[in-house]
Amino acid sequence: MSTKKHPKKIYLPEDRLPKAWYNMVADMPNKPLPPLHPATKQPVGPDDLAPLFPMALIQQEVSTERYIEIPEPVREIYKIWRPSPLIRAYNLEKALDTPAKIYYKYEGVSPAGSHKPNTAVAQAFYNASEGVKRLTTETGAGQWGSALSYATQLFDIDLQVFMVKVSYNQKPYRKTMMNIWKGKVVPSPSELTETGRKILAEDPDNPGSLGIAISEAIEMAVKDPQTKYALGSVLNHVLLHQTVIGLEAKEQMEMVDAYPDVVIGCFGGGSNFAGISFPFVRDKIVEGKQTRIIAVEPQSCPKLTRGQFRYDFGDTIGMTPLIPMFTLGHNFMPPAIHAGGLRYHGAGAIVSQLLKDGLIEAEAVPQLESFEAGILFAQTEGIIPAPESTHAVVQTVREALKAKEEGKEITILFNLSGHGHIDLGAYEQYLNQHIHNYEVTDEQIAENLKVLDEMGFPKP
Ligand SMILES: *Cc1c(COP(=O)(O)O)cnc(C)c1O
Repeated sequence: MSTKKHPKKIYLPEDRLPKAWYNMVADMPNKPLPPLHPATKQPVGPDDLAPLFPMALIQQEVSTERYIEIPEPVREIYKIWRPSPLIRAYNLEKALDTPAKIYYKYEGVSPAGSHKPNTAVAQAFYNASEGVKRLTTETGAGQWGSALSYATQLFDIDLQVFMVKVSYNQKPYRKTMMNIWKGKVVPSPSELTETGRKILAEDPDNPGSLGIAISEAIEMAVKDPQTKYALGSVLNHVLLHQTVIGLEAKEQMEMVDAYPDVVIGCFGGGSNFAGISFPFVRDKIVEGKQTRIIAVEPQSCPKLTRGQFRYDFGDTIGMTPLIPMFTLGHNFMPPAIHAGGLRYHGAGAIVSQLLKDGLIEAEAVPQLESFEAGILFAQTEGIIPAPESTHAVVQTVREALKAKEEGKEITILFNLSGHGHIDLGAYEQYLNQHIHNYEVTDEQIAENLKVLDEMGFPKP
């Protein structure tokens, strides 16, 4: 490696775009616990999910097969931006004066500017294959709504997006993107559903949350047999589709004889983190590699570091099955931080099990430090990261500085899940010193988790 000239950008040729996604479940020592029906507390079967998802995605949700083929039409669309570049962050390394080698996988090159189209295109394809005419979904910062708008119009599917109200007001251009790609957008809570109307009656100024928006989107899908629902994170099939990121990254690192000691991803519901890391978690389990794999969440929504491993609803109102996951309680209302995509009360079942089994770690970082890191990254590497992605940058900086202190030449890989061009309002507020940190008290968390006991949810 020292004799080879090391490129700044490592491109994988188009013909080496992965042909299959990697299913983490196949290699997990302890399989994720099954989702439960909230009324019967029995595992949900494919029939329970059929009103919401096409059968192909339900099968992926419960699959234990190691590799699942990427359909050719999906690969053809992936080729518009994939394989995405792997970049050596020489300038950031220099600024930190660290012996660590820092690589990042850049998912901001997709049409929507984040990793989300990787699953949006796959989900739109499977829905279209089964004749679905309309989809509903929720979106936080608007990244998922725009990714799914882009994907659904490619397959002639109509889309209704419920956008968390605080983000709807903070990020008007995300709505424009969705509209350009034919998505219909309404701020959530909305008047379009019973759930929304009920919440607005009690609290007209409710800022919304991902949990509420999910409830609204599911309600609309359940009430119309022609309509199905799409989720941008948390579920097994979503994480599966995102593994194309890590599979590419592993090949790209091999091209320069590198292998990460630390893999880092920011964490909302777990999809980009799973995407970059699962192929490396596999190596840990199957080949005994010692890689540290770190999920980074905001301090204001600390489900992995301060939540409990419990059965809980995936949404606020209780329309989803009970999912075994690290959660702050489905009633938890995260503060209106700018990393809207990270404001979710729970984590996916696979990631939660991996955390419980010590195969991955979690860290929580404050909002101010995340903007600071985002600006350092923009000034050194040039790319302005999405506010979500800056959380991964913070942990990268921390690890690189630790390596400097300890004089260790470690290799760090992190996922830059998206660019922040539509989030400049947030950066503007940071530059004007209008951004501050949010603390969540132990009492608040305990209060929300108490509800799960009161509702008699089984403890895993
Ligand atoms: C949505 C989003 C996230 C958080 O969602 P995950 O499912 O945890 O990946 C992170 N980064 C960006 C850029 C996003 O759009």
